[in-house]
Amino acid sequence: MTVEPARAALIDGKTFSAALVERVAAAAARLNQAHGVQAGLAVVIVGEDPASQIYVRNKGERTLGAGMRSDTHRLAETTTQAELLSLIAGLNTDAGVHGILVQLPLPAHIDASAVLAAIDPDKDVDGFHVVNAGRLAVGLPGLVPCTPLGCLLMLKDQLGDLSGLHAVVVGRSNIVGKPMAQLLLAESCTVTIAHSRTRDLPALCRTADILVAAVGRPEMVRGDWIKPGATVIDVGINRVPSLDPAKAAEGKTRVVGDVAFAEAVQVAGRITPVPGGVGPMTIACLLANTYVAACRQNGIAPEPLDA
Ligand code: NDP
Repeated sequence: MTVEPARAALIDGKTFSAALVERVAAAAARLNQAHGVQAGLAVVIVGEDPASQIYVRNKGERTLGAGMRSDTHRLAETTTQAELLSLIAGLNTDAGVHGILVQLPLPAHIDASAVLAAIDPDKDVDGFHVVNAGRLAVGLPGLVPCTPLGCLLMLKDQLGDLSGLHAVVVGRSNIVGKPMAQLLLAESCTVTIAHSRTRDLPALCRTADILVAAVGRPEMVRGDWIKPGATVIDVGINRVPSLDPAKAAEGKTRVVGDVAFAEAVQVAGRITPVPGGVGPMTIACLLANTYVAACRQNGIAPEPLDA
């Protein structure tokens, strides 16, 4: 008799995010019907970066698809910081705009941190403003960065109560690693944050019930770093050469995560694939944040959006 190796259950971010977007759209429609408030998102892009143009178009279409107002402000590469700050000041006081997102990266002559700091924290749907980072750290209601929020929603959907679980977050960036750790701490996980100076990272990862990889290094986390049965959330999006040498020679690429999926899937209990795991959750959470911001700015309690 042959014994098949155990195989992790896949956490399907596409299906889960589609369901979240449906809940957000339904809640936004009720907000509009009951209170005459149409949630609105303004996206600002400076310059012609092709990838950013695609992201911004996608955000606009998805916002409209959820029944919300979408304004896209396309500014020339030569826009000055003062002009950008003046636009943001106007959006901050526009009652029809509840969320403001400035697409990064900005051109080198603009100080991105000054621009992000100028956004009204209550409209900061990316959750990057220092006031929102502070609110998250002390447990006040705020706006939470979309990618870690998406990871948390998937974890709660998969595991229910997270309290007491050991979560290891590999990566300490302000947009993923740190807010992810704060969210897991707020769920009463025991949280360890690892980074490039961590000693014996494989051994540390093997102690994790929940392992979140947000590193930006293709397939760094190997199968033997994972505790059998653990839940693995792979945030990484890395472009590497195609497996087909002929296609690779033509410059064709494929996307892999920070986790060596083929190995990890044999050990983990549950795992997010790349693509199709965390990625689709980010925009769904952007829409959720816009809905929540619209409610709060009108003194209305947002409906719970978990499944
Ligand atoms: P950053 O580059 O800002 O941070 C990477 C972190 O990984 C740093 O804290 C760094 O440590 C740590 N790190 C780097 N090398 C190692 C190593 N060898 N061992 C342990 N830790 C290491 O990246 P982001 O947080 O912005 O993004 C992480 C990944 O997530 C990327 O692949 C990115 O593309 C992806 N991403 C995906 C999103 C999505 O929508 N799914 C959204 C945002 C990001 P140190 O601080 O010591 O330098």
